[in-house]
Amino acid sequence: MLEVDALECAYGRHLALDDVSLRVREREVVAILGANGAGKTTLLNAVAGLVRPAAGSIRYRGEDLIGLRPHQIVERGVATVAEIRRLFGPMSVMENLSLGAFASAGRGAASVAAERVFELFPRLKERRRQAVRTMSGGEQQMVAVGRALMSRPSLLLLDEPSLGLAPLIAAELFAALEKIAREGETSILMVEQNARRALKMADRAYLLALGRIVGEGAAKALAQDRAVAESYLGL
Ligand code: ATP
Repeated sequence: MLEVDALECAYGRHLALDDVSLRVREREVVAILGANGAGKTTLLNAVAGLVRPAAGSIRYRGEDLIGLRPHQIVERGVATVAEIRRLFGPMSVMENLSLGAFASAGRGAASVAAERVFELFPRLKERRRQAVRTMSGGEQQMVAVGRALMSRPSLLLLDEPSLGLAPLIAAELFAALEKIAREGETSILMVEQNARRALKMADRAYLLALGRIVGEGAAKALAQDRAVAESYLGL
């Protein structure tokens, strides 16, 4: 469903992505592993329309995404989980979720989508009137994932969902993400610092180093690969 080919992104003269090609198929969970500065965020931002590539193509269900505005990309079914700091802190959980439902596919079905989010994250339902800035980091991350789900995306882009979260709440978040993946309506492309967890959840993964894809394969096989373990799993 997502086809990235020969993608190049540059910041001034610095080439952050060089000849990157990858695929995400329907119902697939794909992880991108790489060290700090490898270009993972740049890749997700390019798909989301937040960074304009210098060369290459990004196609989604056959349509070229390059040149579309970020909101048009959301309307095509590709939603990004916003960084926590891009939530609206003084506003309630419910108000933040509603902002995610602006895309046409979400509009009529906003209450159905909200129910779905509350099923995945019951504690958001209890706290739906609470101001987001008064919630814990993990709860705010749940709001961020929930807000992206409000547009009922067919592809969810996740940038380091467990960054800075306590282990228990990270586990809760991953359980919800696995549920989303298993239900099969939403594919996931994720960048995750916790490579072990990412490989456990993903079907396939790509290894990114200094802006280039240096490896790819089935997540199970990569998790057992000695070189991968040394570079990405901290063994
Ligand atoms: P991290 O996990 O540290 O966020 P990353 O793999 O997501 O790393 P990117 O954030 O995509 O990597 O950055 C890739 C490269 O591009 C880095 O060398 C970074 O310094 C550079 N870079 C990223 N954003 C900008 C920017 N706005 N202006 C200039 N250089 C940038």
